[in-house]
Amino acid sequence: MSSTPTSAVLVVNAGSSSVKYQLVDPVTGEATAKGLIERIGLPRGEVHHTVGGTTYDEVLPIPDHATALRLLTAAFAEHGPDLGEIDLLAVGHRVVHGGADFADPTVVTPEVLITIEQLVPLAPLHNPGNLEGILAAQQAFPDVPQVAVFDTAFHQTMPPAASTYAVPRAWREQYRVRRYGFHGTSHAYVSRRVAELMERPLDQLRAVVLHLGNGASATAVDGGRSVDTSMGLTPLEGLVMGTRGGDLDPGVAGHLARSGGLTIEEVDRALSKESGLLGLTGSADFREVQQRREVGDADAELAFQVVVHRLLHYVGAYAAVLGGLDVLVFTAGVGENDGELRAEVVRRLSFLGTELDEAANVGLARGEGGRISTEDSAVEVWVVPTNEEWEIARQAAEVVEGR
Ligand code: ADP
Repeated sequence: MSSTPTSAVLVVNAGSSSVKYQLVDPVTGEATAKGLIERIGLPRGEVHHTVGGTTYDEVLPIPDHATALRLLTAAFAEHGPDLGEIDLLAVGHRVVHGGADFADPTVVTPEVLITIEQLVPLAPLHNPGNLEGILAAQQAFPDVPQVAVFDTAFHQTMPPAASTYAVPRAWREQYRVRRYGFHGTSHAYVSRRVAELMERPLDQLRAVVLHLGNGASATAVDGGRSVDTSMGLTPLEGLVMGTRGGDLDPGVAGHLARSGGLTIEEVDRALSKESGLLGLTGSADFREVQQRREVGDADAELAFQVVVHRLLHYVGAYAAVLGGLDVLVFTAGVGENDGELRAEVVRRLSFLGTELDEAANVGLARGEGGRISTEDSAVEVWVVPTNEEWEIARQAAEVVEGR
């Protein structure tokens, strides 16, 4: 049994139809309870609350986010831990798009809410749900500070050379078209953590972090600061992902409109939901792609090669951007679990000075990180399990305690 923390942050990740939450000790990262409230707005909503290794499930209509947050507090009251006995430092909200307005975690005020609302055009699929979550949490926890932690914030340190797209001035100024980057909470956590594990000062480390999950992005981190990242204005750019294809010629959209009669909505949807591994193989799941490769599926083999090729592009480019490389880090579902992909990438980067420790690479226990390069490897290679909830809790606590 895990002990109840004396102080904690409730981390909330609200989407358009779901709310994920964790009660996290910001110092140790221990999550004493977690849950998922899903199918909000549908006739059969679901609440799943996990504490002490047991999950409590409930099915009932959940018309809106306010109801979801009431059910969240009810689940804590019924199954524990008792929120009344905890010093709840903050509710930490994951917010996807902070634009150029937010470079740091921010205590929510009426002005902050307006700014997040103004950023909806940049993240129409994500920011509205995030906002709903904040408003509902304000009602449910009126006396607790609400802190917004932005997926884009870590990348606000990118120099203009990396964040600027070479497009007309009006696009850049009126429509805020530039590279923002995402997964910032994960990249921040992983780059700090790898420095601790390497016992090297973060401010002297040149790192490339590969966050490879359903969504995937690469970041060049120089001395703890993001200096380039593969996602752009939206999470569509960069690496090959589950259902997003990443980089492509912008001319493709016009070609499909003219030759295929597709609307911009159809193009957007296909690029976001029907491309990537799904477009290449019919499955968005990397594990399944690997299983198909094993039985000689040509589409799956091509998909694997395209994924690797794109990864080489980014690591090579970022080694150049950083002027050298000290450490390459793999994280998230694919990065933490797929030794074969890691091995292929590390072998093909050997010209940079990466030398794979084959035994370490295959010997990692699930959920465990570790170094997968040899003692002699000029560039260290690590697997570091990401923990976005802990990072949100840590950042939220820091903001509240520093006020
Ligand atoms: P999300 O972006 O939704 O948080 P995750 O980080 O959980 O995603 O990553 C999901 C991806 O990780 C899926 O493509 C899944 O197939 C892949 N994955 C999980 N376990 C393995 C494994 N053992 N081998 C290869 N891929 C895996």
